[in-house]
Amino acid sequence: MASTNHHLHFLLVPLMSQSHLIPFTDMAKLLAHRGQTVTIIMTPLNAARFNAIIDYAINSNLKIQFITLNFPCQEAGLPEGCENLDSLPSPDLSVKFLKASNTLQKPVENLLRDLQITPTCIISDFCLTWTTDLALKLRIPRIVFHTVSCFTLLCSHNLETHKVYESITSDSQPFLVPEIPDRIEFTKAQLPAWARRSSNEQQDLFDKYKEAEQSAQGLLVNTCEEIEPSYVEGYQKVAMNNVWCIGPLSLCNKTASSKFERGNKPAIDEHRCLKWLDSMKPRSAIYVCFGSLSHLLPNQLIELGLGLEASNRPLIWTIRKESCSKEFEKWLIEQKLEERLNGRGLIIRGWAPQMLILSHPAIGGFLTHCGWNSTLEGISSGVPMITWPLSAEQFYNAKLIVQVLKTGVYITDEALVQCQKVGALVKKEDIRKGIEKSFDEGEDGVERRKRAQELGERARRALEEGGSYLNVTLFISNILCN
Ligand code: UDP
Repeated sequence: MASTNHHLHFLLVPLMSQSHLIPFTDMAKLLAHRGQTVTIIMTPLNAARFNAIIDYAINSNLKIQFITLNFPCQEAGLPEGCENLDSLPSPDLSVKFLKASNTLQKPVENLLRDLQITPTCIISDFCLTWTTDLALKLRIPRIVFHTVSCFTLLCSHNLETHKVYESITSDSQPFLVPEIPDRIEFTKAQLPAWARRSSNEQQDLFDKYKEAEQSAQGLLVNTCEEIEPSYVEGYQKVAMNNVWCIGPLSLCNKTASSKFERGNKPAIDEHRCLKWLDSMKPRSAIYVCFGSLSHLLPNQLIELGLGLEASNRPLIWTIRKESCSKEFEKWLIEQKLEERLNGRGLIIRGWAPQMLILSHPAIGGFLTHCGWNSTLEGISSGVPMITWPLSAEQFYNAKLIVQVLKTGVYITDEALVQCQKVGALVKKEDIRKGIEKSFDEGEDGVERRKRAQELGERARRALEEGGSYLNVTLFISNILCN
C-alpha cells in the first residue's frame, strides 16, 4: 500500500470485546501501512491476547503500540479479570461492563500525560461517549467507528426517525422498514435492545450514542461500497456527517500467520487445521461458528451435532469453551460423535482460526450466527452462508445476506421466530435441510454460489484498489487538513 507524506498519530479507543477489538486492530494495521502512527488503548489481559499484532508491527516496521490501563472490575462490581465482554460469567453483567467502559476518560488522560503521548486524532468506538470530552480537551478531531453495516445503520435510523415503534404493540408483529431500497420486515423481538428502546435506560443510552456520533468529525464504517452500494449511499444521505467506508478490514491480514492468530491463540494447531482442509474437496465443507459471545444451550448443541452429522458433509464445528458444558461433553463422548464422523468432522473446542478456515478453498458453506465481522469475513471469502441469527444486530445481517445480497439461506424460516424464544430448539432435521438447501445443485443454488463468489471478488478488490482504498486516502487527507 502507498504511504502518505504527512504524518498523523491516531489514538484508537475500542470497546473491550472481540468483535470490536478485532476490527480496531485490523484498522491499526491499515492506517500504519499508510505510514501513520497508531496507539491503541488496551487492558493488560486484552493486550496479552492481541500480542501477535505487536510482533507483526515490529516485523513489518509499522508504528503500532498498545498502552494499557487497568479495567475497573472491582469498582463496577464485576469479577476480577473480566476485562472483555467474552469473559463475563453472565450476559446480565454487560450493562455493568458498558458502564465501566464509560468511566475510563480520566485514566486515559493520565496515561497519555504520563507517557507523553500526543495523538492528533481519536478514533472511538461508537458506544464510548466520553471520548467526545477527551477530544475537546486535547483539541483534536474525533471520529466514530461503526462495527456494523450501513444496512443496519440505515434501517435503524429510518425506524427511529419514522417513529415506527410507536404503533407497534407486540414483539411478534411484523413491520416494514420505511424508505430503504428493499422490502424488509422486522419484528421488535428481532431488533437489538438498543434499537428497540425497551426501557428508559436504553432510550437514554441510544440518545447519548447518537449525540456523540453527530458531534464527531466523521464516521468510519467497516463495510464497503462494493458490498452494499445503495445502503452506503442511503446512510451517507441521512448521517449529516462524513461517512468513510473502509472495509472489509479483515482483508488487511494477508499472511497465513496473521490470518491464523487473530484475536486469540487458536485452540487448534495451524498445521493440523490446514492438513485437514487440504484433504477435503474444493467447496465441499461447512464451517460452523457462532462468534465470540453467543451461547447455545446443551440441548441445542446436541441437535446441532446431530444435524451436522445428518448433513453428510465434511465440517469444522467450533464450540466456544464456555458452551462446552459437562452435560454436552458427556453426550459427545457417549455418542462417540467424533468417531462417527470418521475423519470428515473437525471439532474445535475454543477459538478457531476463522479467517484462515474461511479463506480456504475447501469451505463451501458457513453456518453463522451473523455477527457483522463473521458476515463480512464470509462475504469476502466468497462463501455462501447459512444464517442462524440469535441476538444483537444479527437479524439485520441475516436479512442483508438472504434478502438483499441473496448469497445465503436461513437455517429455517421457523428458526427466525423460534430462536427469539429462550430455550426454543432448532431441530436436527431443520438444520440438515438448511445445509442441504445451501448446497442445492438446482438453479437457485448454482446462482447463489455464483453471486457469493462474485461478491467476494468485489469485496476483496475494495481494499486493494476500490472504494475503501480511496476512502482511506480521503479520510487521512480530511484529518490532515483539519
Ligand atoms: N472469531 C474467531 N474464532 C472464533 C470465534 C470468533 O476468529 O472461534 C472471530 C471472528 O472471525 C470475528 C469475531 O471473532 O472476527 C466475532 O465477531 P462477530 O461480529 O462475528 O460476532 P460476535 O462475537 O460479536 O458475536
